[in-house]
Amino acid sequence: MKGEKINYQRQTDAVLSALDQALPRPALLLHSCCGPCSSYVLEYLTRFFDVTVLFYGPNIQPEAEYRKRLHYQREVLRHIPAKLMECEYDGDAFARAVSGLEDEPEGGARCTVCFALRLEETARRAAAGGFDWYCTTLTVSPHKDPERINRLGTAMGEKYGVRWLPSDFKKKNGYLRSIVLAKEYGLYRQDWCGCGYSHTAKR
Ligand code: SF4
Repeated sequence: MKGEKINYQRQTDAVLSALDQALPRPALLLHSCCGPCSSYVLEYLTRFFDVTVLFYGPNIQPEAEYRKRLHYQREVLRHIPAKLMECEYDGDAFARAVSGLEDEPEGGARCTVCFALRLEETARRAAAGGFDWYCTTLTVSPHKDPERINRLGTAMGEKYGVRWLPSDFKKKNGYLRSIVLAKEYGLYRQDWCGCGYSHTAKR
């Protein structure tokens, strides 16, 4: 029905129950740009998939902040077994992508472009690397629109020929669990999204 909210957690459940205890476990490339957000998602998904984390955050400014977040991503992976795929920091890619959208509010058109940039790179790498599935940690955040992320994820999956795992990871207390795990693992939790615009807006 028009306007009815899609229950993405139900879609995740349907995929996971179809996978059941499939062996060998399917390979999943998980986009992440933040260790704390990835903690719950990794705890959840490593029960079903052979997970590789793609740490990809060209939107994170400045580069020192990117390196700090990458450090804490590695910390998470000391506790939860998954592989790490790193990228070169490419802040210029983000600047080019959002050119003209600098004044957009958080959650506006700049964020749509930013999600698309990160999801496209993840889908491209997932296809090139022969992964069975791909997804992102972004839906664990209560500040991110799951409808937009899942729509873009599906589209990029179709473009590159790799299955998108739908999600709304904040459900099932996922966001709260990520806070608990961040504390337990001694992780740094930033209070802004990543780009300089979101940082300034907080201050
Ligand atoms: S606020 Fe977050 S999602 Fe939006 S453009 Fe900045 S880094 Fe990207």
